[in-house]
Amino acid sequence: MKIFKELNSRGHEQIAFFNDSYSGLKGIVAIHNTTLGPALGGCRMWNYRTEEDAIIDVLRLSKGMTYKASIAGLNLGGGKAVIIGNPKKDKTEKLFRSFGRFVEGLGGRYITAEDVGTNIHDMENVKIETNYVTGIAKSLGGSGDPSPVTAFGVYMGIKASVKEKLNKNSLNGLRISIQGLGHVGSHLVQLLHKDGADILVTDIDKKRVNSITDKYGCKSVDPNDIINQNVDIYAPCALGATIHKDSIPQLNCKIIAGGANNVLQNANRDSQLLTKRDILYAPDYVINAGGLINVANELEGYNKEKAFNQAEKIYDTLMGVFKRAKKECITTTEAASLQAEDRIKKIATLKSFYLPYKKTFKIRND
Ligand code: NAD
Repeated sequence: MKIFKELNSRGHEQIAFFNDSYSGLKGIVAIHNTTLGPALGGCRMWNYRTEEDAIIDVLRLSKGMTYKASIAGLNLGGGKAVIIGNPKKDKTEKLFRSFGRFVEGLGGRYITAEDVGTNIHDMENVKIETNYVTGIAKSLGGSGDPSPVTAFGVYMGIKASVKEKLNKNSLNGLRISIQGLGHVGSHLVQLLHKDGADILVTDIDKKRVNSITDKYGCKSVDPNDIINQNVDIYAPCALGATIHKDSIPQLNCKIIAGGANNVLQNANRDSQLLTKRDILYAPDYVINAGGLINVANELEGYNKEKAFNQAEKIYDTLMGVFKRAKKECITTTEAASLQAEDRIKKIATLKSFYLPYKKTFKIRND
């Protein structure tokens, strides 16, 4: 693998390999772009088939974080970490403290958080060694579970999509299907129910389905049938890659707007297929940015109200994406990328003249 060729083609600034034979840590941090601020992104622990797979994953994910932070209006860059190992077997306090020490060594260019295969407890071990970690428990001064803010952002994104596609200001009476009733999906049901939406849910966990249908009186369908339901809005809030060339012909909705990451299996191809079917797609990293907004707030001393206020702006951000897509005859996926890139380019020129003082990024020192 030609590492510098990969970094150049994706526009990365840095990749750092961490090896600690005492703890068994094999970690990689990729920093994509820090024009807007320090690179923030979760630490994924995964039993990668090859080291090359791990490198490709960390490069891909860190680039995604640059776009997500930029379009959310955050002063953060894009980064990500991966630890090669089995999260079910290989986790130790020492491993995560070792990772924390390496992160500390990057001097604040990268801030870590939990991700697939890691959890709040792992981040508490990281926190023993570095302050460059976020998304930790409330009891440790962190922001705790980000999903209420994520769900609120998705709710605002659904409202924007409805305004754009159906020219309606209210969700009252609209049919909305939700795939996945976990942290995000269950909070989303609550918000949509309050607005009088006609909600249809599914989950592979029957207990979750029963608890939601009992509480809100909504209907449920088999997980295999959610994709072809006749609804106004389909809100994927479970897995990624559920929208692809085979599932798109089955869709019976006008809008796709949900909390799941990487909803499209192939972003370019699938967003074009959705446009051809006249289905409005709210790009995942724009609509589900509430989680990132929440942890970003933690860096300056967590303020719940501020986090919700920032997540509310997802409405305007999406309207901007839809407007650009229409004006330039491009997909909403392309429009979101261009919006994110434009902000980075504009802010980069700010540094073209000298300032006699520098406002440093605030990190708690407790
Ligand atoms: P979660 O694990 O709490 O919930 C996921 C739910 O989906 C579970 O109830 C699970 O049983 C269900 N599920 C899994 N496979 C399914 C299937 N085939 N059909 C129906 N249901 C299925 O996760 P979460 O935190 O709610 O996150 C949901 C999605 O949103 C993920 O894609 C996540 O990456 C994304 N996301 C979450 C946040 C956040 O703040 N939690 C932020 C941004 C993005």
